[in-house]
Amino acid sequence: MKHIGVLTSGGDAPGMNAAIRAVVRAGSHAGLTVFGIERGYQGLIDGALRELGPRDVGGIIRQGGTFLHSARCKAFYDAEGRAQAARQLAAHGIEGLVVIGGDGSYRGAQALHDEHGIRCIGLPGTIDNDIGGTDYTIGFDTAMNTAMEAIDRLRDTAFSHDRIFFLEVMGRHSGYIAMIAGIAGGSEDILTPEEPTNIDSVIRTIRDGRDRGKQSMIIVVAEGDDAGNAFDIAKAVAEQSEFKDTRVTVLGHLQRGGSPTAFDRVLASRMGIRAVEALAAGETGQMVGISGTRLVLRPLAEAWENRTVFDPELLKVAQILGS
Ligand code: ADP
Repeated sequence: MKHIGVLTSGGDAPGMNAAIRAVVRAGSHAGLTVFGIERGYQGLIDGALRELGPRDVGGIIRQGGTFLHSARCKAFYDAEGRAQAARQLAAHGIEGLVVIGGDGSYRGAQALHDEHGIRCIGLPGTIDNDIGGTDYTIGFDTAMNTAMEAIDRLRDTAFSHDRIFFLEVMGRHSGYIAMIAGIAGGSEDILTPEEPTNIDSVIRTIRDGRDRGKQSMIIVVAEGDDAGNAFDIAKAVAEQSEFKDTRVTVLGHLQRGGSPTAFDRVLASRMGIRAVEALAAGETGQMVGISGTRLVLRPLAEAWENRTVFDPELLKVAQILGS
């Protein structure tokens, strides 16, 4: 194998650039030519590929987002789209591909491998930390710290005005960010899709807090909570209790960007090198994960078959310390 490609796909995450940099430099170190593919699978189908050398990835380790751009690509769900992608790879002599993204991107990689024999290695790039096969995904640590800082800032205002805030953080299917940021920010309650939300119990938490002398409170809500988004929950609380005057803040896409933390930079750097080593050793259909402090290779399918959920011990921590 002489030529490999790297692309970023699906939702962007801080640290993707660090991963690209590592793939490019490790590839060069191993005597491989590395092609950067723009806009994920869409760029692959369109032939938006260019050779990248070590100098082309200088200075990007500290940048959020992905300098290759990312995209969602409808055509890749169809066999014909994937066949076109395989033709582009063949035209550039590319036999191995590093796909940085979430489990959706991995499904695409698996199909490309099964149908066209392209060697594919996945790197977990998503802020949600919900994919299987790895304890941590690239971008989660940064997003979690961004959400924690938001809680700290809200705390100043909540305290000054004796207010109750509902802060909505990302996580359509996963309450991981809400749980970790909520604990780190010292929030009074954390509402996640994993645990059924009961408005009565939210009201009870607020009332108990007031009875114990809390003038202000912050309740963190994962966007995919079963009782609705933060506005829905604030409305239900207002309708069913004396707490009419609350505030809602939605963090939204602010959580996605920003300079990656040291943890994400180092994780992405290590994983990028491991991906190139795996390709060079003839591995395929695998993802790089981290288990404890060690890098591991796992089948791509583990990403969606064995999704990571937060440890229930964290619920206890949140409940005891939020009181
Ligand atoms: P993520 O990788 O962050 O989970 P998506 O689920 O949006 O993001 O997937 C990113 C892209 O991967 C999709 O736009 C599509 O091009 C490709 N993809 C996702 N699922 C499949 C699938 N089952 N088959 C082929 N390609 C897929």
